[in-house]
Amino acid sequence: MAVQQNRVTRSRRNQRRAHDALVAANPNECSNCGELKRPHHVCPSCGHYNDREVVAQVGDVDLEDDAA
Ligand SMILES: [Zn+2]
Repeated sequence: MAVQQNRVTRSRRNQRRAHDALVAANPNECSNCGELKRPHHVCPSCGHYNDREVVAQVGDVDLEDDAA
């Protein structure tokens, strides 16, 4: 097992951890439905990206149409 050569002081440890904080998510509004969504991601509530539907939603798919 590796053993540290030098004691890490409280100050040095805390300086290292100064960059460990998590940053909050920065959601934007979907331009189609107005729901909050992650930037550069498809909207999870309506499946749109850049005003275009890219993922069909469960409620929108017409099963009768696919069978024909
Ligand atoms: Zn949306």
